[in-house]
Amino acid sequence: MKTYIFILIFMSNVLIGLSVNRKDNLSYVSTACSDTVIRAAGNDTMTALFRNTVSEAELYHCAKKIHKRIYSIDSHCDTPMFFPYGIDIGKRNPTFKVNPKDLGASENMYVNYDLKMDIPQMMDGMLDATFMVAYLHQGARDEKTSQKTVAKTESILKEVIRQVEKNQSIAGIARTTDDLKRLKGEGKKAIFLGIENGYGLGKDIRNVRKFAEMGVRYITLSHNGDNDLCDAAVRSKQEHKGLSDFGKQVVREMNRLGMMVDISHTSEKTSFDVLKISAFPIIASHSSVKKLCNHPRNISDKLMRAIADKGGVIQVCLYTGFLKKSGKATVKDAVDHIDYIVKTVGIDHVGIGSDFDGGGELVDCKSVSEFPQITMELLRRGYSEEAIAKIWGGNLMRVMEACVR
Ligand SMILES: [Zn+2]
Repeated sequence: MKTYIFILIFMSNVLIGLSVNRKDNLSYVSTACSDTVIRAAGNDTMTALFRNTVSEAELYHCAKKIHKRIYSIDSHCDTPMFFPYGIDIGKRNPTFKVNPKDLGASENMYVNYDLKMDIPQMMDGMLDATFMVAYLHQGARDEKTSQKTVAKTESILKEVIRQVEKNQSIAGIARTTDDLKRLKGEGKKAIFLGIENGYGLGKDIRNVRKFAEMGVRYITLSHNGDNDLCDAAVRSKQEHKGLSDFGKQVVREMNRLGMMVDISHTSEKTSFDVLKISAFPIIASHSSVKKLCNHPRNISDKLMRAIADKGGVIQVCLYTGFLKKSGKATVKDAVDHIDYIVKTVGIDHVGIGSDFDGGGELVDCKSVSEFPQITMELLRRGYSEEAIAKIWGGNLMRVMEACVR
């Protein structure tokens, strides 16, 4: 009897919840996809359940239609980190065993891992483009180690290029927004290159040009820990009190060569120094909002306004630790961060940088294949197709175009 009453109460709560959702759904579906009309009549509870199922399906349909029309870009994935495990970005990769120690974790045991980004999953999630980065763990900074790091950066980038070329029937390397548009027109995925950690440049300014020529379109100036360019947000000894002289040279050279400067991971002082000397708008390729989740890596309101004033963009990171202080983050939490940026500095300065295969993961969006879930949540909150197009790639494309010389 007790169980029965409990089930009744539970069901009525579910149905009340569903009918509230349904009401919201009807309004946004009809505005975002004008040709979509939900036909269901009656006001009994079963109809409410049915209508909710139908409207969720319609919402998904609407999100997919939008993805066909817009350009969507994920500005940060660390998938190349898994190249040593023999993955192929052109295929569906089976679950494989990784050593967490290889990924910077302390446990020395193998765990099962499912790749969060590859071309088939980009197709599933209707993602047009991604930035695959060469990630360099911050290590020793003597001359010999620096030179080895430069070689490592080059070999990772070469492997990304080799894998994309091997899969040229379904993907291509992109350097410009025109490349992205052309590739989408051909039904192919666009792969942009990035470097995560200016440590990968070593101590030689000429390496900026070398990597620009290979197709690198942004460099994240630091990772965790200070390097020769600047102070980081985490594990910093405030060595340079911001950007070093070499870091300033690097920013100017990146400006000259049309690369985007990325301040994710750098200290706040470094970020303001970059804003002062960069001739062009800058990006935070994978960072979230400090006001909603107080992490040193996140963006303060003051920095957010400064980035926006210069025409730049903050790409919300899908890493749980940057989205909420406890528990696992969901699509709703990530979209809360998007909402916050929109409310603070407007729709033109926000995007998405998943950090997939580098720690990024949401409970209800575990890989790029589930990206339409984010679009559905944006629709639920009343974002128009025009706004969604800006968030998913339009804003980053604007910055990329502003930086190209
Ligand atoms: Zn990162």
